Amino acid sequence: MKNKGLLIVFSGPSGAGKDTILKRLLEKNPNIRLSVSATTRSPRAGETDGKDYYFITKEKFHQMAENGEMLESAGYCGNFYGTPKRPIEQWLSEGFDVILEIEVQGGAQVKEKCPDSVGVFVLPPSLKVLENRLRNRHTESDEVIEKRLAVAQSEILQAVHYDYAVINNTVDQAADEIIHILCAEKHKVQRD
Ligand code: 5GP
Repeated sequence: MKNKGLLIVFSGPSGAGKDTILKRLLEKNPNIRLSVSATTRSPRAGETDGKDYYFITKEKFHQMAENGEMLESAGYCGNFYGTPKRPIEQWLSEGFDVILEIEVQGGAQVKEKCPDSVGVFVLPPSLKVLENRLRNRHTESDEVIEKRLAVAQSEILQAVHYDYAVINNTVDQAADEIIHILCAEKHKVQRD
């Protein structure tokens, strides 16, 4: 285990700014690999298959889950999302740190299967800021935004199950705080 990379579960409500923080994190730290999830949701404008997500059918999703190809999976706002297992195992064995940007049900599954994983929860500065961010990105209908806001409030309560919470006041500050968290994790004394 010593030479393996860290498995990082990165969660937070939709609109908390996870994507922007991750982008900055990847620019600052070349040893990080970002897992590409599979989803049954339709691509948004500007999203690319294989880069943002693997956009797959419900049939294919269930087939992958049944074949044990997913590290975790969950339903979220009417769609399924899951983490393909193989690239994660490969990267970790090569010594890369791997980030899974996933919602809280999946986060709980990963913590159970991989107790050494590090859970980082991103919080918006306030619920009002979260709502403004969701509305200003113009990627979802009002109905979907309402649904995501309702889910966000219950998701925020799950932050207590994570190892660290980071408030997204500014992207740079949040990315730097996560780099410090990863650094501290790597310097933890192994007690067993
Ligand atoms: P979005 O539709 O906005 O891209 O993602 C919706 C939610 O699904 C976000 O909270 C995102 O973190 C989560 N998500 C993305 N990929 C996965 C995954 O592979 N597994 C799980 N459990 N959640 C995911």
